[in-house]
Amino acid sequence: MGEQQVRAAFTELYGAEPEGVWSAPGRVNLIGEHTDYNDGFVMPFALPHTAVAAVARRDDGVLRLHSADVEGGVAELALDALAPGGDHDWTAYPAGVVWALREAGHPVTGADVHLASTVPAGAGLSSSAALEVVVALALNDLYELGLPRWQLARLCQRAENVYVGAPTGIMDQTASACCEAGHALFLDTRDLTQKQIPFDLAAEGLRLLVVDTQVKHAHSGGEYGKRRAGCEKGAALLGVDALRDVPYADLGAALERLAPDDPDGEVRRLVRHVVTEDERVERVVALLEAGDARAIGPVLDEGHASLRDDFRVSCPELDLVVDTARTAGALGARMTGGGFGGSAIVLVETADVAPVTQAVEKAFAAADFTAPRVFEAVPAAGAHRLT
Ligand code: ADP
Ligand code: MG
Repeated sequence: MGEQQVRAAFTELYGAEPEGVWSAPGRVNLIGEHTDYNDGFVMPFALPHTAVAAVARRDDGVLRLHSADVEGGVAELALDALAPGGDHDWTAYPAGVVWALREAGHPVTGADVHLASTVPAGAGLSSSAALEVVVALALNDLYELGLPRWQLARLCQRAENVYVGAPTGIMDQTASACCEAGHALFLDTRDLTQKQIPFDLAAEGLRLLVVDTQVKHAHSGGEYGKRRAGCEKGAALLGVDALRDVPYADLGAALERLAPDDPDGEVRRLVRHVVTEDERVERVVALLEAGDARAIGPVLDEGHASLRDDFRVSCPELDLVVDTARTAGALGARMTGGGFGGSAIVLVETADVAPVTQAVEKAFAAADFTAPRVFEAVPAAGAHRLT
């Protein structure tokens, strides 16, 4: 979405120029799924798709919100009346950020916000975090709060967890706030230690495709919460703070210890996914640092199988993308994001982009699924001020 367009729309809506315009991207997660709420590792990179917000301060305790992408007029909220747990629409994301900032003691006295986003909503590409982070960064700049990126991400996560009521981890907000162009972000979600890993597939003759199945998921829905609760149960039974604390080398012993308390195997499947997924992230980091991007293909495949069979968050559309792409010559593929729909990523040789894309489209048509949206993902910049 063009900066000038958003600026002009703000001026038309609110009758004055904005004080600035900010941008925050959606993300794709290369590897490390459902690990972030287990204190584990993730490896997202930013998409060129962004939420762009024009913002001006107010000093009268009023928050006005408008999205170019949602039907309806300007929402007007009183800051003192912001409270978690209401019956929320999209405004809960930006309003939740303002609530979280004020609750943490930051002197935000109001704002006018107009935003527009090119991040597809509900596609597993983190349109919600883009929305939160763009507002948080704008207010951080305008109110001169001086908060570091990681802390803005924490406040945005709090907005989503507590105000919106979606029990998501810290990956999405940190990715949107902290990613760098040309890099994937290796993030330890326990302490938010970060390492930017150069990720230039084109230089190695490779491409990463994102296939949005158009199947909409809802993270605030119960399945996500159930997985999360199951992971917490596993950690409690094993006597650790989080599943991240189960070393990969001890996985077999840990699974044996869980057996008596886990008659149907549900907790053991969840634990096995999380522990092996953390190990896969470390393997991908090592391969990329060694300059061997081709070799991550099989690791992506393993990750998908684990999400499908152990964590059980895939769906027929995601499985069809992965299976078809692989048969058509892809080097590896996996669902990305929380699951139950959303998007898959596919690693291909540059020459195979067209045949793999066509094979997936054909398979979707044959299965009578809604046509998928396929695009190439190139690691883009994290959130920043445009003007
Ligand atoms: P994801 O983050 O994977 O896209 P979520 O369910 O976490 O999916 O967030 C999607 C929600 O974010 C939408 O239902 C909507 O409330 C909000 N949202 C996303 N983009 C916009 C937008 N451009 N304008 C208004 N609200 C948006
Ligand atoms: Mg989201």
